[in-house]
Amino acid sequence: MTAPDLLDQLHATFGFTAFRGVQQQVIDRVMAGQSSLAVMPTGAGKSLTYQLPAVTMDGTCVVISPLIALMHDQLRSAEANGIRAASLTSADSDDYRETAIDRFRSGDLDLLYVAPERASQPHFRELLSKARVSLFAIDEAHCVSEWGHDFRPDYRLLRPLMDAFPAVPRLALTATADAHTRADILAQLGIPADGLIVAGFDRPNIRYRVTHREAITRQLAALMAEQPGPGIVYAPTRKRTEDLAEKLAAATGRTVLPYHAGLPAEVRAANQAAFVASEDMVMVATVAFGMGIDKPDVRFVAHAGVPKSIESYYQETGRAGRDGDASVALLLWAAEDFARARHRLGEVEEGRRAGESARIDAMAGLVETAGCRRALLLRHFGEDPPETCGNCDNCLEAPGIVDATTLAQKLLSAVYRTGQSYGFGHIEKVLTGAGDERVAQRGHDRLSVFGIVNAEESYLLRPLARALQARGSLVPTEHGGLALGGDAKSVLKGDAAVMIALAPKPERSRKGRRDRSGAVNPVGDPLFDALRTLRRDLALEAGVPPYVIFHDSTLREMAAARPASLSALGEIGGVGARKLDAYGEAFLKVIQQN
Ligand code: ADP
Ligand code: MG
Repeated sequence: MTAPDLLDQLHATFGFTAFRGVQQQVIDRVMAGQSSLAVMPTGAGKSLTYQLPAVTMDGTCVVISPLIALMHDQLRSAEANGIRAASLTSADSDDYRETAIDRFRSGDLDLLYVAPERASQPHFRELLSKARVSLFAIDEAHCVSEWGHDFRPDYRLLRPLMDAFPAVPRLALTATADAHTRADILAQLGIPADGLIVAGFDRPNIRYRVTHREAITRQLAALMAEQPGPGIVYAPTRKRTEDLAEKLAAATGRTVLPYHAGLPAEVRAANQAAFVASEDMVMVATVAFGMGIDKPDVRFVAHAGVPKSIESYYQETGRAGRDGDASVALLLWAAEDFARARHRLGEVEEGRRAGESARIDAMAGLVETAGCRRALLLRHFGEDPPETCGNCDNCLEAPGIVDATTLAQKLLSAVYRTGQSYGFGHIEKVLTGAGDERVAQRGHDRLSVFGIVNAEESYLLRPLARALQARGSLVPTEHGGLALGGDAKSVLKGDAAVMIALAPKPERSRKGRRDRSGAVNPVGDPLFDALRTLRRDLALEAGVPPYVIFHDSTLREMAAARPASLSALGEIGGVGARKLDAYGEAFLKVIQQN
C-alpha cells in the first residue's frame, strides 16, 4: 500500500486526516514486514499503529494484551470504527469463543485480542497455524521485562510462539521503558535493535501544577470546580481514599467514588465501570487504579501526596488527557510526605537504599524547583527540552526565588542548639524571640539564636522549613521534633546555598498568563450541549461509554462547523465511514434543530 492509500484508509476508518508523531514511521515498518518496538507516551496513539495495518493487510493481527478489561475497551472502540475484531479470553462465553475461532480461521477478523497465557497453550499455536496471521502486536510490552515495572512471566512465552511464525512481523508497544528495559524487550521478543522507535515523552496538553497541601478538600474541590469533566485523585492509603471521596462528594455535590484493593471485587468493578462510562465522575483511588484504563477524557489527575518516584508521577499523571484536550496534573505535597519517605529508607535493604534515596531527591527537586516543571520531567527522561513550556504553574506564574541561605543557617543552628528535639513551632518562637513559658523554662531565651530573625524575614521561616525537609536537610525525630540531616552541615558551613521558590501572590498571578494548553469545551453553547445529550443517549442505547461514539473534540468541531450534509459531516475529525453511517443522520438532525 502506498502512503496516500494509507492516509485514505486512515480517514475512512478513523476519520483522522493525518498521522501523529511517529505513527507513520511505525506503520511503515509494519507494512514493510519489519519488526519494531515503539516507545510512545500515553495518548500518543499506539493502538492505531497496529489497527490501521490490521485493516489493510491480508489476514488477522493477533494482539497480546495483559488485561481483559483493557482488551474489551479496545475491542469496543475498534468495532465502533467498523473494524472486524474479537477476543479470546477466559471471560468470554464458550459460544463467543467458538464463533471467534471460526471467524479467525475463515479470515473474517482484522484483530484478535488474546491474553499472554494463551500463548503457552499448544492448541493456540495449532490454531495460529491454521489461520493467516498478518502481525503480532504486543501491547504493554514492558511486561516482558523484569526491569520494567510490571513483569508478567507469561509474556516470556511469546517469543517461542512467535518464533514458530518467522514470516510474521512483530510490533511491541509500551509507554514506559528506560534504556535498560528497552534493550531487554528487544531481546526477549526477538526484535532487531534497529527496530526501536522512541517518541518524545512530552504530553503538551497536560498542565503540571505543584503546590503545598494546606486544606486538601478545599484545594481539590477548587480543582473540580474548574474541571467539570472526569478526574482521578490518587491518595496514599485505603482509608484516605474513602475519607476523601466522601468529603469531596459532600463539598461539591458531584459523584465521587473510592477505589482500592481492599474493596470487594464487585464494588471495585462497579466503581470502575461507572467511572469509564461517566462524563463527570471523580475517582479517589490508590495507585492500584489506573493500569488498564484507557478512558480518553480524564480531565485531571491529582495527587493527594507525593508519589514514590518521578516515573510513577509521570505514569499516573499520564492518565489525564489521552484525547489531547487540555488537562491538569495537580500535585499537593507536604513536608511530612518527604519525612515519611526518608524515614522508610531505614527499612529498605541496603543495596537498594541509594536508589530509593535518589528517587525521593528527584521528587523533592520537582516540588522545589522554581523552573519549568515539564523541562525537569523531560530532562529526567534524558531529553533536552526548551527551558520553559508555557503550560506549567511556574511558567505561567513565575514564583519568586529567594536566596535563603543565611536564614537557613539561622534555622539549622537553632535546631542544633536546642538539642535537635523540638518541632517547628518552638524553633520559630526561639528564632523570632517570641518566647513563652516553655522557651524560658528550657533556657532557650538565653541562646545566641534567640530573636535573631526579624519580623520581615519571619514569614519565610515556614516555607524554608518545608523546603529543608523536602531536601532532607531537616529530618523529623521519632517524637515529632526536627533534627539535622542530609547536607545540613554544608549549609551551616556556607558550602551549600539554599534557594527557595515562593508561590506568586494571587494579584500578580493573573497578569501575563499565557495559555498553550489546547482547546476546552465551550460553556453554555446550546448546540454543543445538544450534541452531548445525543451522544449520551446513543451511548446508553449501545451500552458503551460516550467517548466510544465520538470524542469531545469531534463534537466541538461539529458545533463550530455546523455541517449540513453527510459528506460535510464526514470531514469532521474522528468521523470515519462506519460512524458516519451509524450516527450521521442523528447528529445532522440535532445540528439543524439548534
Ligand atoms: P495510547 O495507547 O498510545 O495511549 P491510544 O491508542 O489509546 O493511545 O490513542 C489515544 C487517542 O488518540 C485515541 O482516542 C485515538 O483515537 C487518538 N488518535 C490516535 N491517532 C490519532 C491521529 N492520527 N489523529 C487524531 N487522533 C488520534
Ligand atoms: Mg494503549
